[in-house]
Amino acid sequence: MSMVALAWPNKPTGAGRRVRSLVAVYNGYLTTQTAKATRTMPPNEECPNCRQKVEDWHVEWYKTEGPSLYKGLAAMDCPVCGQPVGFLQGKIGPAPPGVPLVRRYADRAAEWAASQAVSAGGTLQGYLSAAGAGTQYVNYWTPQEVQQADADEQAKKQGP
Ligand SMILES: [Zn+2]
Repeated sequence: MSMVALAWPNKPTGAGRRVRSLVAVYNGYLTTQTAKATRTMPPNEECPNCRQKVEDWHVEWYKTEGPSLYKGLAAMDCPVCGQPVGFLQGKIGPAPPGVPLVRRYADRAAEWAASQAVSAGGTLQGYLSAAGAGTQYVNYWTPQEVQQADADEQAKKQGP
C-alpha cells in the first residue's frame, strides 16, 4: 500500500503531500512538466538519434519505469530507430550513459488503447494501424504480441 519510498524530484515539502500513490506520482510527472498537459506525453519531440519527429513518445506505456526515466536512471527506446533516448526531467534528449534501455509494454499499451483509442476500436492493433501517432509503433511489437495484449485486455474487461 505504501509508496513513500519513491524519491521524487520537486517533491512538495509539506508533510501532507509526502504520501502519494504511484499512479498519482506517475500522472503528476507526466502532466506537471509542461504547461499544456495532455494525457499522452510528450508529443512531437524529435529523436536525438535519428532526428525523426516522434508524434507521441508514449511514456505512459511504461509501468514502474516512469520515475527512473524521469530521473535519468533508465532510457527509453525510440519507436523509429530503436536507439536509447533520455527522458531526464521530462525532456526528450540524449540517453544518459550506462543506464538500462527499457521497452514499453504491449499489455500496458492495450490497456491504454481500450480507453484512449476508442475511435480506433479501442484496441492496440487498431491504434497501431490507424492513421496517426500509432503508426510509428507498428513494428515495435510483433503482431502476435499485439494480438495477445488485446486479447488479455478484452478478457480483463469481461472479468471472471
Ligand atoms: Zn530515433
